[in-house]
Amino acid sequence: MGVFGIFAGEKTNVASSVYYGLYALQHRGQESAGIVVNDDGVFTSYNDSGIVNDVFTKDRLEGLGQGNMAIGHVRYGTLGTKGRINAEPIVINHVKGKLAIATAGGIVNASELKRELELQGMIFHTTNAAEVVSYVITKERISSSSIEEAVVRSMERIDGGFCMLLMSPQKMIAVRDKHGFHPICYGQRESGEYVIASESCALDSVGATFIRELDPGEIIVFSSKGIESIRDHCGKARESLCVFEYIYTARPDSTISGLSVHEARARAGALLAAAHPVEADVVVGVPDSGLDAAIGYANASGIPYGIGLIKNKYIGRTFIAPGQDVREDKVKIKLNPVRSTLNGKRVVLVDDSIVRGTTCAKLVGLLKNAGAVEVHIRSSAPPFLNPCYYGTDIDSKESLIACNHTIEEIRQMTGADSIGFLRLEDLSKLGVGSSSRGFCTACFDGIYPTKPPVIYKNKYDTKISENKK
Ligand code: AMP
Repeated sequence: MGVFGIFAGEKTNVASSVYYGLYALQHRGQESAGIVVNDDGVFTSYNDSGIVNDVFTKDRLEGLGQGNMAIGHVRYGTLGTKGRINAEPIVINHVKGKLAIATAGGIVNASELKRELELQGMIFHTTNAAEVVSYVITKERISSSSIEEAVVRSMERIDGGFCMLLMSPQKMIAVRDKHGFHPICYGQRESGEYVIASESCALDSVGATFIRELDPGEIIVFSSKGIESIRDHCGKARESLCVFEYIYTARPDSTISGLSVHEARARAGALLAAAHPVEADVVVGVPDSGLDAAIGYANASGIPYGIGLIKNKYIGRTFIAPGQDVREDKVKIKLNPVRSTLNGKRVVLVDDSIVRGTTCAKLVGLLKNAGAVEVHIRSSAPPFLNPCYYGTDIDSKESLIACNHTIEEIRQMTGADSIGFLRLEDLSKLGVGSSSRGFCTACFDGIYPTKPPVIYKNKYDTKISENKK
């Protein structure tokens, strides 16, 4: 999931900047997209299921009008939260004003907070944790003298791996959880507007110069008075930046914690080559997120890098397809082999990760059909063994291939000639000279920086169906 905001101060075409920012963050979620424009306290919003380009036609974007600030969101639907009804940003009218909120990541105590609010008589319209957060903040707002005070108090109650962007009539507030799971940064345009984004590549897309990332636990308030940073509210937690941001989630042209995502991936490829060498003729990456690691593997091993798979650029990330059957079809729709690179060759096939095992099983067959004589799978992530509660859709072990099978079984199931995963201990070496960086590696080692979520179900819980427009 991705958030993007612009604080312009004066009335301008903020919606189009958010549109371009969300475009640059599209890889972080393709389930839904939304924008809220704030014109001196008048909020105009639009969100829907689909990618940014489909949700925002020219008319819809123009319909948002001008404003002095705006926030936007792209959503990666995690289990049970897919559908238009869960699209963000959420807009709330409360007794002291208005609030718009966009969240990215996972809130581990959302179910507990929701139960507490329900027992006080509150009702919920969505299955999205962002709605829970918006009520927690609204409730705090009633007894607070400012929105930032309400946000600070709320952050003491909300736990998980998340970033948020909020808008009150006069202020924009950016929040990063105290563990620092997911990236969020801000920058400034020459014209003075502040821009806040999940990833630095989105600042580039609107011509903003990167200033810095939010620190773990930091809250930054943008208002007509300038910028205020609030840091003292949530104590110290072990820094737990999601290592999967480097492996898969983020765009390679982004920089997170001072480390280029491309460089981190190339380094993972080099470490993989050292741990799992093989005699081969060509190294091929699985587009897009496996390419950087493949280059790193090729450089370190001396085996030439080749373009062996072409991705259809008009298709989304495979994982985001609903249901296993569709996901399998999509691999073929998405990737096609380049016979001239592969024919008669011993191929090293580098992918960023093996989660359910669907992609690499299909690809070994594709490559062998295209003439590859051997296919050696290399994953630039360790075996994915544990559910993630911080924003990916893997909430149980059942679908994880490495949980249910040995490495040798995975090799046999995929039809590969050999298989090798990045070693767990190599994760800390992704950033040269920055080994002090604390990563969350729970998906690989099961060490969770927070309490796992407790899920409460109501007796009459029904599936919220999507209203077609
Ligand atoms: P699988 O086919 O289930 O083994 O998934 C591995 C493929 O999905 C890799 O090619 C990754 O690039 C991609 N992938 C890994 N993690 C995720 C995720 N959380 N969401 C979407 N795609 C992912």
